[in-house]
Amino acid sequence: MSTAESPEVTDVFVVGAGPVGLVAGCELARRGVRVRVIDKLAQPTEQSRAIAVHARSLDMFDRMGIVDEMLSTGIKATAMQLYAGHSKLFRVPLGGVDSAFPFTLTTAQTETERVLVEHLRSLGVTVERGVELAALSQDAQGAHLTLRHDDGSTERASASWVIGADGGHSMVRRLVGTKLAGSFVGERFLLGDVDAEHQLDLDSMHTFFSPDGPVVVLPMRDGRMRFLAEVHDAPGTPLNMHPSQEELQAVIDERIGGIRLLRSHWLTSFEIHHARVPAYRWGRVFLAGDAAHIHSPAGGQGMNTGMQDAFNLAWKLAAAIRGEAGDTLLDSYEAERIPVADGVITFTDRLTKAGTLSGVPRRIRDMLIRVVSHVPAARRAMADTAEEVNVSYKNGPLTIGRRLRNAKVTAGEHFPHVVDAAIQKQLSAVCGVQNTGHVVLTVAAGQVAPAAGGHGPTQVLVTASETEPATPVAGYDTVIADPDGLVAQRFGLKNGGRIVIRPDGYIGAVASLDDTTTVAGYFAKVRG
Ligand SMILES: Cc1cc2nc3c(=O)[nH]c(=O)nc-3n(C[C@H](O)[C@H](O)[C@H](O)COP(=O)(O)OP(=O)(O)OC[C@H]3O[C@@H](n4cnc5c(N)ncnc54)[C@H](O)[C@@H]3O)c2cc1C
Repeated sequence: MSTAESPEVTDVFVVGAGPVGLVAGCELARRGVRVRVIDKLAQPTEQSRAIAVHARSLDMFDRMGIVDEMLSTGIKATAMQLYAGHSKLFRVPLGGVDSAFPFTLTTAQTETERVLVEHLRSLGVTVERGVELAALSQDAQGAHLTLRHDDGSTERASASWVIGADGGHSMVRRLVGTKLAGSFVGERFLLGDVDAEHQLDLDSMHTFFSPDGPVVVLPMRDGRMRFLAEVHDAPGTPLNMHPSQEELQAVIDERIGGIRLLRSHWLTSFEIHHARVPAYRWGRVFLAGDAAHIHSPAGGQGMNTGMQDAFNLAWKLAAAIRGEAGDTLLDSYEAERIPVADGVITFTDRLTKAGTLSGVPRRIRDMLIRVVSHVPAARRAMADTAEEVNVSYKNGPLTIGRRLRNAKVTAGEHFPHVVDAAIQKQLSAVCGVQNTGHVVLTVAAGQVAPAAGGHGPTQVLVTASETEPATPVAGYDTVIADPDGLVAQRFGLKNGGRIVIRPDGYIGAVASLDDTTTVAGYFAKVRG
Protein backbone atom coordinates (compact mmCIF):
# COMPACT_ATOMS: atom_id res chain seq x y z
CA MET A 1 0.00 0.00 0.00
CA SER A 2 1.05 3.58 -0.66
CA THR A 3 2.71 5.99 1.75
CA ALA A 4 1.85 9.66 1.33
CA GLU A 5 3.88 12.56 2.73
CA SER A 6 1.74 15.49 3.88
CA PRO A 7 3.49 18.59 2.51
CA GLU A 8 1.88 20.97 4.99
CA VAL A 9 3.11 21.27 8.56
CA THR A 10 0.09 21.49 10.85
CA ASP A 11 0.31 23.68 13.93
CA VAL A 12 -1.35 21.13 16.21
CA PHE A 13 -2.24 17.49 15.68
CA VAL A 14 -4.96 16.25 18.01
CA VAL A 15 -4.98 12.46 18.34
CA GLY A 16 -8.42 11.27 19.46
CA ALA A 17 -11.87 12.76 18.82
CA GLY A 18 -13.44 11.94 22.18
CA PRO A 19 -14.79 14.87 24.22
CA VAL A 20 -11.27 15.95 25.23
CA GLY A 21 -9.76 16.01 21.73
CA LEU A 22 -12.86 17.76 20.40
CA VAL A 23 -12.70 20.56 23.01
CA ALA A 24 -9.00 21.01 22.17
CA GLY A 25 -9.75 21.09 18.43
CA CYS A 26 -12.59 23.61 18.81
CA GLU A 27 -10.63 25.96 21.05
CA LEU A 28 -7.57 25.88 18.80
CA ALA A 29 -9.62 26.39 15.62
CA ARG A 30 -11.52 29.27 17.29
CA ARG A 31 -8.15 30.98 17.68
CA GLY A 32 -7.17 30.49 14.05
CA VAL A 33 -4.68 27.68 14.72
CA ARG A 34 -4.20 25.15 11.89
CA VAL A 35 -5.35 21.95 13.52
CA ARG A 36 -6.04 18.37 12.45
CA VAL A 37 -8.16 16.05 14.59
CA ILE A 38 -7.95 12.32 13.86
CA ASP A 39 -9.67 9.27 15.31
CA LYS A 40 -9.03 5.63 14.58
CA LEU A 41 -12.74 4.79 14.75
CA ALA A 42 -14.51 5.01 11.39
CA GLN A 43 -17.72 6.04 13.22
CA PRO A 44 -18.20 7.78 16.56
CA THR A 45 -19.13 5.49 19.46
CA GLU A 46 -22.85 4.97 20.19
CA GLN A 47 -22.28 4.36 23.92
CA SER A 48 -23.79 6.95 26.27
CA ARG A 49 -20.81 6.57 28.68
CA ALA A 50 -20.20 9.73 30.78
CA ILE A 51 -23.54 11.49 31.21
CA ALA A 52 -22.84 14.12 33.88
CA VAL A 53 -21.77 17.56 32.65
CA HIS A 54 -21.01 19.70 35.68
CA ALA A 55 -21.41 23.45 36.25
CA ARG A 56 -17.79 24.36 35.49
CA SER A 57 -17.96 22.50 32.17
CA LEU A 58 -21.17 24.36 31.34
CA ASP A 59 -19.34 27.64 32.06
CA MET A 60 -16.70 26.38 29.62
CA PHE A 61 -19.31 25.57 26.96
CA ASP A 62 -20.74 29.07 27.48
CA ARG A 63 -17.36 30.60 26.68
CA MET A 64 -17.10 28.33 23.66
CA GLY A 65 -20.51 29.56 22.45
CA ILE A 66 -22.29 26.18 22.54
CA VAL A 67 -23.97 26.07 25.94
CA ASP A 68 -27.52 26.46 24.55
CA GLU A 69 -26.99 23.52 22.15
CA MET A 70 -25.66 21.46 25.04
CA LEU A 71 -28.53 22.36 27.38
CA SER A 72 -31.08 21.38 24.73
CA THR A 73 -29.72 17.81 24.69
CA GLY A 74 -30.32 16.87 28.32
CA ILE A 75 -32.02 17.53 31.64
CA LYS A 76 -30.97 19.39 34.77
CA ALA A 77 -30.19 17.78 38.12
CA THR A 78 -30.36 20.51 40.77
CA ALA A 79 -29.49 18.49 43.89
CA MET A 80 -27.50 15.50 45.14
CA GLN A 81 -29.03 13.07 47.62
CA LEU A 82 -27.08 10.61 49.76
CA TYR A 83 -28.61 7.51 51.30
CA ALA A 84 -27.46 4.69 53.59
CA GLY A 85 -29.29 1.77 52.01
CA HIS A 86 -32.70 3.25 51.32
CA SER A 87 -32.77 5.73 54.21
CA LYS A 88 -32.00 9.30 53.21
CA LEU A 89 -28.98 10.90 54.92
CA PHE A 90 -28.44 14.21 53.24
CA ARG A 91 -29.68 16.45 50.42
CA VAL A 92 -27.24 18.87 48.85
CA PRO A 93 -28.87 21.56 46.71
CA LEU A 94 -26.68 22.78 43.87
CA GLY A 95 -28.45 26.14 43.35
CA GLY A 96 -25.84 28.03 45.39
CA VAL A 97 -22.75 27.07 43.38
CA ASP A 98 -20.94 30.00 41.83
CA SER A 99 -21.85 29.50 38.19
CA ALA A 100 -24.32 30.80 35.66
CA PHE A 101 -25.39 27.12 35.43
CA PRO A 102 -25.79 25.90 39.03
CA PHE A 103 -26.74 22.31 38.21
CA THR A 104 -25.48 19.15 36.53
CA LEU A 105 -26.70 18.55 33.00
CA THR A 106 -27.25 14.89 32.27
CA THR A 107 -26.84 14.05 28.62
CA ALA A 108 -25.35 11.11 26.75
CA GLN A 109 -21.65 11.44 25.89
CA THR A 110 -22.68 10.82 22.26
CA GLU A 111 -24.67 14.09 22.40
CA THR A 112 -21.77 16.01 23.94
CA GLU A 113 -19.52 14.71 21.19
CA ARG A 114 -22.11 15.45 18.47
CA VAL A 115 -22.43 19.10 19.57
CA LEU A 116 -18.63 19.44 19.68
CA VAL A 117 -18.15 17.80 16.27
CA GLU A 118 -20.71 20.16 14.71
CA HIS A 119 -19.09 23.16 16.40
CA LEU A 120 -15.67 22.05 15.15
CA ARG A 121 -17.06 21.72 11.64
CA SER A 122 -18.54 25.23 11.84
CA LEU A 123 -15.01 26.41 12.64
CA GLY A 124 -13.73 24.78 9.43
CA VAL A 125 -12.29 21.52 10.80
CA THR A 126 -13.69 18.07 10.05
CA VAL A 127 -12.72 15.10 12.22
CA GLU A 128 -10.66 12.69 10.12
CA ARG A 129 -12.08 9.27 10.96
CA GLY A 130 -10.52 5.90 10.30
CA VAL A 131 -7.05 7.42 10.81
CA GLU A 132 -4.86 5.82 13.46
CA LEU A 133 -1.63 7.11 14.94
CA ALA A 134 0.96 4.35 14.54
CA ALA A 135 4.29 6.08 15.25
CA LEU A 136 5.51 9.37 16.66
CA SER A 137 8.90 11.01 16.99
CA GLN A 138 10.06 14.56 17.63
CA ASP A 139 13.08 16.75 16.99
CA ALA A 140 13.96 20.44 16.83
CA GLN A 141 11.89 20.84 13.63
CA GLY A 142 8.67 19.36 14.94
CA ALA A 143 6.73 16.23 15.76
CA HIS A 144 6.55 13.55 13.07
CA LEU A 145 3.60 11.21 12.90
CA THR A 146 2.93 8.02 10.98
CA LEU A 147 -0.78 7.57 10.35
CA ARG A 148 -2.54 4.42 9.22
CA HIS A 149 -5.68 5.05 7.19
CA ASP A 150 -8.64 2.67 7.04
CA ASP A 151 -8.01 1.97 3.34
CA GLY A 152 -4.61 0.51 4.28
CA SER A 153 -2.56 3.50 3.13
CA THR A 154 0.03 5.18 5.34
CA GLU A 155 0.60 8.90 5.73
CA ARG A 156 3.56 10.73 7.18
CA ALA A 157 2.68 14.11 8.66
CA SER A 158 4.42 16.74 10.74
CA ALA A 159 3.14 19.20 13.30
CA SER A 160 4.61 21.75 15.63
CA TRP A 161 2.67 20.29 18.55
CA VAL A 162 0.68 17.14 19.34
CA ILE A 163 -2.13 16.66 21.83
CA GLY A 164 -2.61 13.06 22.92
CA ALA A 165 -6.33 12.85 23.73
CA ASP A 166 -6.54 9.21 22.75
CA GLY A 167 -8.11 7.82 25.90
CA GLY A 168 -7.24 5.33 28.60
CA HIS A 169 -5.21 3.04 26.31
CA SER A 170 -3.35 6.01 24.77
CA MET A 171 -0.91 5.23 21.99
CA VAL A 172 0.57 8.74 22.30
CA ARG A 173 1.35 8.03 25.94
CA ARG A 174 3.16 4.85 24.95
CA LEU A 175 5.03 6.52 22.09
CA VAL A 176 6.42 9.31 24.28
CA GLY A 177 7.70 6.59 26.59
CA THR A 178 5.60 7.10 29.68
CA LYS A 179 2.88 5.18 31.46
CA LEU A 180 0.20 5.55 34.07
CA ALA A 181 1.33 5.13 37.66
CA GLY A 182 -1.05 4.58 40.54
CA SER A 183 -3.32 1.97 41.99
CA PHE A 184 -4.24 -0.88 39.67
CA VAL A 185 -6.47 -2.79 42.06
CA GLY A 186 -9.30 -2.41 39.55
CA GLU A 187 -12.76 -1.29 40.59
CA ARG A 188 -15.57 -2.95 38.69
CA PHE A 189 -18.84 -1.28 37.85
CA LEU A 190 -22.12 -2.54 36.51
CA LEU A 191 -23.75 0.12 34.33
CA GLY A 192 -27.32 0.27 33.07
CA ASP A 193 -29.33 2.87 31.18
CA VAL A 194 -32.87 1.68 31.85
CA ASP A 195 -36.55 2.52 32.10
CA ALA A 196 -37.68 1.87 35.65
CA GLU A 197 -40.53 2.24 38.12
CA HIS A 198 -39.28 4.17 41.15
CA GLN A 199 -40.08 6.92 43.65
CA LEU A 200 -36.82 8.87 43.22
CA ASP A 201 -36.85 12.64 42.59
CA LEU A 202 -36.14 13.26 38.93
CA ASP A 203 -34.32 16.54 39.58
CA SER A 204 -31.62 14.93 41.75
CA MET A 205 -28.56 12.71 41.47
CA HIS A 206 -28.74 9.89 44.02
CA THR A 207 -25.87 8.04 45.72
CA PHE A 208 -26.74 4.99 47.79
CA PHE A 209 -24.00 3.88 50.18
CA SER A 210 -23.86 0.14 50.80
CA PRO A 211 -21.25 -2.17 52.34
CA ASP A 212 -21.28 -4.06 49.02
CA GLY A 213 -20.41 -0.90 47.08
CA PRO A 214 -22.11 2.40 46.22
CA VAL A 215 -24.86 2.70 43.63
CA VAL A 216 -25.18 6.01 41.77
CA VAL A 217 -28.50 6.78 40.07
CA LEU A 218 -28.87 9.67 37.63
CA PRO A 219 -31.99 10.81 35.80
CA MET A 220 -31.65 11.01 32.01
CA ARG A 221 -33.83 12.41 29.24
CA ASP A 222 -37.01 10.60 28.15
CA GLY A 223 -37.56 9.13 31.63
CA ARG A 224 -34.47 6.91 31.51
CA MET A 225 -32.30 6.32 34.55
CA ARG A 226 -28.55 5.58 34.71
CA PHE A 227 -27.55 3.03 37.36
CA LEU A 228 -23.87 2.67 38.18
CA ALA A 229 -23.08 0.08 40.84
CA GLU A 230 -19.68 -0.98 42.10
CA VAL A 231 -19.44 -4.77 42.15
CA HIS A 232 -16.90 -7.11 43.73
CA ASP A 233 -16.26 -10.26 41.72
CA ALA A 234 -14.20 -13.12 43.08
CA PRO A 235 -10.49 -12.74 42.17
CA GLY A 236 -9.74 -13.98 38.65
CA THR A 237 -13.37 -13.65 37.45
CA PRO A 238 -13.40 -12.34 33.87
CA LEU A 239 -15.20 -9.02 33.37
CA ASN A 240 -18.82 -9.67 32.44
CA MET A 241 -19.24 -7.36 29.44
CA HIS A 242 -22.88 -8.34 28.89
CA PRO A 243 -24.65 -8.37 32.25
CA SER A 244 -28.37 -9.09 32.22
CA GLN A 245 -31.17 -6.87 33.48
CA GLU A 246 -31.82 -9.50 36.17
CA GLU A 247 -28.26 -9.11 37.47
CA LEU A 248 -28.64 -5.35 37.77
CA GLN A 249 -32.09 -5.79 39.35
CA ALA A 250 -30.58 -8.15 41.95
CA VAL A 251 -27.91 -5.59 42.91
CA ILE A 252 -30.54 -2.86 43.22
CA ASP A 253 -32.85 -5.08 45.31
CA GLU A 254 -30.00 -5.95 47.66
CA ARG A 255 -28.70 -2.43 48.15
CA ILE A 256 -31.65 -0.08 47.59
CA GLY A 257 -35.01 -1.82 47.07
CA GLY A 258 -38.27 -0.34 45.78
CA ILE A 259 -37.12 0.00 42.18
CA ARG A 260 -38.36 -2.19 39.31
CA LEU A 261 -36.40 -2.23 36.08
CA LEU A 262 -38.72 -2.33 33.06
CA ARG A 263 -36.47 -2.16 30.02
CA SER A 264 -32.73 -1.87 29.36
CA HIS A 265 -31.23 0.38 26.70
CA TRP A 266 -27.58 -0.33 27.53
CA LEU A 267 -26.06 -2.74 30.01
CA THR A 268 -22.33 -3.18 30.43
CA SER A 269 -19.54 -3.61 32.96
CA PHE A 270 -16.20 -1.90 33.12
CA GLU A 271 -13.14 -1.87 35.29
CA ILE A 272 -11.31 1.26 36.30
CA HIS A 273 -7.99 2.02 38.00
CA HIS A 274 -6.76 5.15 39.75
CA ALA A 275 -3.64 6.44 38.07
CA ARG A 276 -1.99 9.27 36.15
CA VAL A 277 1.11 9.92 34.12
CA PRO A 278 4.07 11.58 35.89
CA ALA A 279 4.09 14.54 33.45
CA TYR A 280 1.61 16.01 30.97
CA ARG A 281 4.22 17.58 28.68
CA TRP A 282 6.76 15.55 26.73
CA GLY A 283 8.60 18.08 24.57
CA ARG A 284 6.18 18.94 21.78
CA VAL A 285 3.58 16.48 23.01
CA PHE A 286 0.88 17.12 25.63
CA LEU A 287 -1.34 14.48 27.20
CA ALA A 288 -4.92 15.30 28.22
CA GLY A 289 -8.03 13.55 29.52
CA ASP A 290 -8.06 9.79 30.04
CA ALA A 291 -4.68 9.56 28.30
CA ALA A 292 -3.24 11.43 31.30
CA HIS A 293 -5.40 10.29 34.23
CA ILE A 294 -7.95 7.61 35.00
CA HIS A 295 -10.17 7.28 38.05
CA SER A 296 -13.44 5.97 39.40
CA PRO A 297 -16.60 7.28 37.69
CA ALA A 298 -18.21 7.59 41.16
CA GLY A 299 -18.17 11.40 41.11
CA GLY A 300 -18.89 11.62 37.36
CA GLN A 301 -15.73 13.69 36.92
CA GLY A 302 -13.62 11.86 34.32
CA MET A 303 -14.94 13.51 31.20
CA ASN A 304 -15.37 16.90 32.89
CA THR A 305 -11.80 16.95 34.17
CA GLY A 306 -10.48 15.90 30.76
CA MET A 307 -12.43 18.55 28.84
CA GLN A 308 -11.16 21.19 31.23
CA ASP A 309 -7.59 19.95 30.68
CA ALA A 310 -8.10 20.68 26.99
CA PHE A 311 -9.67 24.07 27.73
CA ASN A 312 -6.70 25.00 29.93
CA LEU A 313 -4.17 23.90 27.32
CA ALA A 314 -5.68 25.24 24.08
CA TRP A 315 -5.41 28.99 24.72
CA LYS A 316 -1.84 28.57 25.97
CA LEU A 317 -0.79 26.58 22.93
CA ALA A 318 -2.49 29.11 20.61
CA ALA A 319 -0.59 31.94 22.34
CA ALA A 320 2.71 30.07 21.94
CA ILE A 321 1.99 29.44 18.24
CA ARG A 322 1.32 33.17 17.72
CA GLY A 323 4.70 33.86 19.35
CA GLU A 324 3.06 35.58 22.32
CA ALA A 325 3.98 33.02 24.98
CA GLY A 326 6.87 30.85 26.02
CA ASP A 327 7.64 27.80 28.09
CA THR A 328 6.40 29.28 31.37
CA LEU A 329 2.87 29.39 30.01
CA LEU A 330 3.10 25.99 28.30
CA ASP A 331 4.52 24.36 31.42
CA SER A 332 1.79 25.93 33.53
CA TYR A 333 -0.63 23.47 31.87
CA GLU A 334 0.62 20.48 33.82
CA ALA A 335 1.45 22.53 36.91
CA GLU A 336 -2.20 23.64 37.06
CA ARG A 337 -3.93 20.47 35.90
CA ILE A 338 -1.99 17.67 37.65
CA PRO A 339 -3.17 18.81 41.11
CA VAL A 340 -6.75 18.81 39.76
CA ALA A 341 -6.43 15.19 38.58
CA ASP A 342 -4.88 14.21 41.93
CA GLY A 343 -7.77 15.90 43.73
CA VAL A 344 -10.31 13.98 41.65
CA ILE A 345 -8.52 10.69 42.30
CA THR A 346 -8.49 11.37 46.06
CA PHE A 347 -12.13 12.55 46.07
CA THR A 348 -13.50 9.56 44.15
CA ASP A 349 -11.36 7.17 46.19
CA ARG A 350 -12.71 8.60 49.48
CA LEU A 351 -16.27 8.59 48.17
CA THR A 352 -15.98 4.91 47.30
CA LYS A 353 -14.29 3.99 50.62
CA ALA A 354 -16.86 5.95 52.65
CA GLY A 355 -19.63 4.36 50.64
CA THR A 356 -18.54 0.78 51.35
CA LEU A 357 -18.12 0.90 55.15
CA SER A 358 -20.01 -1.62 57.23
CA GLY A 359 -20.70 -2.31 60.93
CA VAL A 360 -19.62 0.28 63.50
CA PRO A 361 -17.61 2.46 61.06
CA ARG A 362 -20.73 2.64 58.89
CA ARG A 363 -22.87 3.80 61.83
CA ILE A 364 -20.25 6.43 62.74
CA ARG A 365 -20.16 7.57 59.08
CA ASP A 366 -23.95 7.92 58.94
CA MET A 367 -24.01 9.85 62.21
CA LEU A 368 -21.23 12.17 61.03
CA ILE A 369 -23.00 12.75 57.73
CA ARG A 370 -26.24 13.62 59.54
CA VAL A 371 -24.38 16.13 61.75
CA VAL A 372 -22.46 17.61 58.86
CA SER A 373 -25.64 17.90 56.79
CA HIS A 374 -26.75 20.70 59.14
CA VAL A 375 -23.57 22.72 58.51
CA PRO A 376 -24.18 25.05 55.54
CA ALA A 377 -20.44 25.36 54.79
CA ALA A 378 -20.13 21.57 54.51
CA ARG A 379 -23.08 21.32 52.11
CA ARG A 380 -21.61 24.13 50.09
CA ALA A 381 -18.17 22.46 49.95
CA MET A 382 -19.75 19.23 48.73
CA ALA A 383 -21.73 20.97 46.03
CA ASP A 384 -18.67 22.99 44.93
CA THR A 385 -16.51 19.85 44.73
CA ALA A 386 -19.09 17.87 42.78
CA GLU A 387 -19.66 20.71 40.32
CA GLU A 388 -15.90 21.38 40.05
CA VAL A 389 -16.40 25.08 40.76
CA ASN A 390 -13.77 25.04 43.50
CA VAL A 391 -10.98 24.16 41.07
CA SER A 392 -8.29 26.76 41.63
CA TYR A 393 -4.83 27.45 40.23
CA LYS A 394 -3.86 29.61 43.23
CA ASN A 395 -0.69 27.61 43.82
CA GLY A 396 0.23 27.50 40.12
CA PRO A 397 3.21 29.19 38.47
CA LEU A 398 1.17 32.00 36.89
CA THR A 399 -0.14 33.36 40.16
CA ILE A 400 1.21 36.75 40.99
CA GLY A 401 0.67 39.48 43.57
CA ARG A 402 -0.71 39.49 47.07
CA ARG A 403 -4.35 39.07 48.00
CA LEU A 404 -6.00 42.50 48.15
CA ARG A 405 -7.46 43.41 51.52
CA ASN A 406 -11.21 42.64 51.65
CA ALA A 407 -11.20 41.43 48.02
CA LYS A 408 -13.45 38.47 47.24
CA VAL A 409 -11.46 37.69 44.11
CA THR A 410 -8.06 35.99 44.12
CA ALA A 411 -5.55 35.20 41.39
CA GLY A 412 -5.91 31.57 40.35
CA GLU A 413 -9.61 31.26 41.16
CA HIS A 414 -12.40 31.29 38.59
CA PHE A 415 -13.94 34.66 37.77
CA PRO A 416 -17.12 34.87 39.90
CA HIS A 417 -20.61 34.94 38.49
CA VAL A 418 -22.38 38.29 38.99
CA VAL A 419 -25.96 37.77 40.04
CA ASP A 420 -27.29 40.96 38.37
CA ALA A 421 -28.42 39.63 34.99
CA ALA A 422 -27.84 42.84 32.98
CA ILE A 423 -24.26 43.26 34.21
CA GLN A 424 -23.48 39.53 33.87
CA LYS A 425 -24.73 39.67 30.27
CA GLN A 426 -22.32 42.51 29.48
CA LEU A 427 -19.43 40.73 31.22
CA SER A 428 -20.22 37.50 29.37
CA ALA A 429 -20.25 39.41 26.08
CA VAL A 430 -16.76 40.85 26.62
CA CYS A 431 -15.24 37.71 28.20
CA GLY A 432 -17.12 35.11 26.18
CA VAL A 433 -17.29 33.69 22.72
CA GLN A 434 -16.36 36.90 20.87
CA ASN A 435 -13.14 37.20 22.84
CA THR A 436 -10.41 34.59 22.67
CA GLY A 437 -7.87 36.58 24.68
CA HIS A 438 -7.35 38.18 28.09
CA VAL A 439 -9.53 40.87 29.62
CA VAL A 440 -8.32 43.51 32.07
CA LEU A 441 -11.36 44.54 34.06
CA THR A 442 -10.94 47.84 35.88
CA VAL A 443 -13.48 48.51 38.63
CA ALA A 444 -13.22 52.28 39.05
CA ALA A 445 -15.50 52.63 42.11
CA GLY A 446 -15.89 56.37 41.61
CA GLN A 447 -12.23 57.03 40.82
CA VAL A 448 -10.48 58.11 37.64
CA ALA A 449 -8.67 55.00 36.44
CA PRO A 450 -6.63 54.87 33.24
CA ALA A 451 -6.36 51.44 31.55
CA ALA A 452 -3.42 49.17 32.43
CA GLY A 453 -1.78 46.18 30.80
CA GLY A 454 -1.05 47.55 27.32
CA HIS A 455 -2.92 47.06 24.04
CA GLY A 456 -3.05 43.24 23.89
CA PRO A 457 -5.88 42.43 26.32
CA THR A 458 -9.42 43.76 25.99
CA GLN A 459 -9.80 46.69 28.36
CA VAL A 460 -13.10 46.88 30.23
CA LEU A 461 -14.06 49.64 32.66
CA VAL A 462 -16.83 49.27 35.23
CA THR A 463 -17.92 52.77 36.24
CA ALA A 464 -20.39 54.23 38.67
CA SER A 465 -21.81 56.13 35.68
CA GLU A 466 -25.54 56.79 35.84
CA THR A 467 -25.98 56.66 32.07
CA GLU A 468 -26.84 53.48 30.19
CA PRO A 469 -25.03 52.73 27.95
CA ALA A 470 -22.09 54.28 29.73
CA THR A 471 -20.11 57.02 28.01
CA PRO A 472 -17.02 55.66 26.17
CA VAL A 473 -13.72 56.30 27.95
CA ALA A 474 -10.38 56.62 26.13
CA GLY A 475 -8.18 53.54 26.52
CA TYR A 476 -11.12 51.17 27.14
CA ASP A 477 -12.80 48.88 24.61
CA THR A 478 -15.97 48.57 26.67
CA VAL A 479 -17.46 50.57 29.52
CA ILE A 480 -20.07 48.96 31.75
CA ALA A 481 -22.34 51.22 33.82
CA ASP A 482 -22.81 50.02 37.39
CA PRO A 483 -24.51 52.89 39.25
CA ASP A 484 -25.32 50.72 42.28
CA GLY A 485 -21.75 49.48 42.66
CA LEU A 486 -22.84 45.83 42.40
CA VAL A 487 -19.59 44.68 40.80
CA ALA A 488 -17.40 46.42 43.38
CA GLN A 489 -19.54 44.86 46.11
CA ARG A 490 -19.51 41.35 44.59
CA PHE A 491 -15.73 41.39 44.13
CA GLY A 492 -14.98 43.14 47.44
CA LEU A 493 -13.32 46.04 45.61
CA LYS A 494 -14.89 48.97 47.47
CA ASN A 495 -11.89 51.15 46.66
CA GLY A 496 -11.65 49.87 43.10
CA GLY A 497 -9.17 47.48 41.56
CA ARG A 498 -8.17 45.52 38.49
CA ILE A 499 -8.79 41.91 37.61
CA VAL A 500 -7.00 40.14 34.78
CA ILE A 501 -9.37 37.48 33.38
CA ARG A 502 -7.67 34.68 31.48
CA PRO A 503 -9.14 33.25 28.28
CA ASP A 504 -10.33 30.19 30.26
CA GLY A 505 -12.25 32.32 32.79
CA TYR A 506 -9.72 32.01 35.61
CA ILE A 507 -8.23 35.08 37.27
CA GLY A 508 -4.66 35.87 36.25
CA ALA A 509 -4.05 38.76 38.65
CA VAL A 510 -5.83 41.12 41.04
CA ALA A 511 -4.34 44.54 41.76
CA SER A 512 -5.27 47.82 43.40
CA LEU A 513 -5.75 50.81 41.10
CA ASP A 514 -2.46 52.40 42.17
CA ASP A 515 -0.47 49.16 41.71
CA THR A 516 1.66 49.66 38.61
CA THR A 517 3.50 46.32 38.58
CA THR A 518 1.15 43.35 39.16
CA VAL A 519 -0.79 43.44 35.88
CA ALA A 520 2.38 44.03 33.87
CA GLY A 521 4.10 41.28 35.86
CA TYR A 522 1.38 38.79 34.99
CA PHE A 523 1.67 39.49 31.25
CA ALA A 524 5.47 39.27 31.48
CA LYS A 525 5.05 35.76 32.94
CA VAL A 526 2.71 34.77 30.12
CA ARG A 527 5.26 35.94 27.55
CA GLY A 528 8.20 34.44 29.49
C1 LIG B 1 -18.45 2.02 29.58
C2 LIG B 1 -17.96 3.34 30.07
C3 LIG B 1 -18.76 4.08 30.94
C4 LIG B 1 -18.32 5.28 31.45
N1 LIG B 1 -19.11 5.96 32.32
C5 LIG B 1 -18.67 7.12 32.83
C6 LIG B 1 -19.46 7.86 33.75
O1 LIG B 1 -20.56 7.46 34.11
N2 LIG B 1 -18.96 9.04 34.23
C7 LIG B 1 -17.71 9.52 33.84
O2 LIG B 1 -17.28 10.60 34.28
N3 LIG B 1 -16.95 8.83 32.98
C8 LIG B 1 -17.40 7.67 32.47
N4 LIG B 1 -16.63 7.00 31.59
C9 LIG B 1 -15.33 7.57 31.22
C10 LIG B 1 -15.49 8.65 30.17
O3 LIG B 1 -16.20 8.11 29.09
C11 LIG B 1 -14.09 9.15 29.80
O4 LIG B 1 -13.55 9.79 30.95
C12 LIG B 1 -14.09 10.13 28.63
O5 LIG B 1 -14.59 9.53 27.48
C13 LIG B 1 -12.65 10.58 28.38
O6 LIG B 1 -12.58 11.29 27.20
P1 LIG B 1 -11.26 11.28 26.31
O7 LIG B 1 -11.58 12.18 25.16
O8 LIG B 1 -10.07 11.54 27.15
O9 LIG B 1 -11.09 9.78 25.81
P2 LIG B 1 -12.05 8.90 24.92
O10 LIG B 1 -13.46 9.31 25.05
O11 LIG B 1 -11.70 7.50 25.24
O12 LIG B 1 -11.61 9.24 23.44
C14 LIG B 1 -10.37 8.82 22.91
C15 LIG B 1 -10.50 8.69 21.40
O13 LIG B 1 -9.20 8.43 20.87
C16 LIG B 1 -9.32 7.50 19.82
N5 LIG B 1 -8.02 6.83 19.66
C17 LIG B 1 -7.45 5.96 20.51
N6 LIG B 1 -6.24 5.57 20.04
C18 LIG B 1 -6.05 6.22 18.87
C19 LIG B 1 -5.00 6.23 17.91
N7 LIG B 1 -3.88 5.51 18.06
N8 LIG B 1 -5.14 7.00 16.81
C20 LIG B 1 -6.26 7.76 16.63
N9 LIG B 1 -7.29 7.76 17.51
C21 LIG B 1 -7.19 7.02 18.62
C22 LIG B 1 -10.44 6.59 20.26
O14 LIG B 1 -11.04 5.94 19.16
C23 LIG B 1 -11.39 7.54 20.98
O15 LIG B 1 -12.42 8.01 20.13
C24 LIG B 1 -17.05 5.78 31.06
C25 LIG B 1 -16.28 5.07 30.16
C26 LIG B 1 -16.72 3.86 29.67
C27 LIG B 1 -15.86 3.11 28.71
